[in-house]
Amino acid sequence: MSAAALRPVAGLTRQRLRWLLQALLAHHGPQHWWPADTGFEVLVGAVLTQNTAWRNVEQALSRLREAGLLDPVALVEAEPETVAEAIRPTGYFNVKARRLRNLCLAYLQEGCLEGMQLQGTEALRERLLAVTGIGRETVDDILLYALDRPVFVVDAYTRRLFQRLGWIGGQEGYEQLRAAVEAALGPDTEAFNELHAQVVALGKDTCRPTPRCEACPLSGACAYAGGDPAAAAPAPAPGS
Ligand code: SF4
Repeated sequence: MSAAALRPVAGLTRQRLRWLLQALLAHHGPQHWWPADTGFEVLVGAVLTQNTAWRNVEQALSRLREAGLLDPVALVEAEPETVAEAIRPTGYFNVKARRLRNLCLAYLQEGCLEGMQLQGTEALRERLLAVTGIGRETVDDILLYALDRPVFVVDAYTRRLFQRLGWIGGQEGYEQLRAAVEAALGPDTEAFNELHAQVVALGKDTCRPTPRCEACPLSGACAYAGGDPAAAAPAPAPGS
């Protein structure tokens, strides 16, 4: 990783991130991510969810299951048009069908989840990033939600939220933000799992392109809403 990617982000402190997680958990309740029955379904969902709503992914997963295609060998052997038709509800279905096939080939070459679990996180990230059409967010979804690795997923909701809270300038790169959150929270897979899911929930319902600040549990500490960033402090643990 380059030095720029690892440059610290002063606004992303452990205290603020813990406060964010606590506040969103209290507001939404646990999100129990990733919504999938198996690790392989997480892989498939991570490709299909690009640029579409999750309800469309659910529809595509059902169609793949009904067609007997929710299986890496079946997906590799199927005609591209058949796969594309099954995942049509997610949009960009021809591109996604190719990406899915590329990822399934790599998945089989790596020895499926069992083989992947034998590899270190950084080495595996690099190998998955080498798969044509598979980007950083998709790879980190797979590392975190299919393989339980302590990796934080950065997406557009995260970037928008951190910027509105006044914690980042907005020009930071993917790797810089990921490394900053991971350094601040330590290797805490459970926290990364829940925090990403909570940020997505807020981004969909409340911190939208036109935000609904009046309904947001973060407004008191949010720069965009005129709050005081110093209010972003975790509540003391019970009994302390
Ligand atoms: S207060 Fe408004 S801008 Fe700030 S995080 Fe909440 S919804 Fe987003």
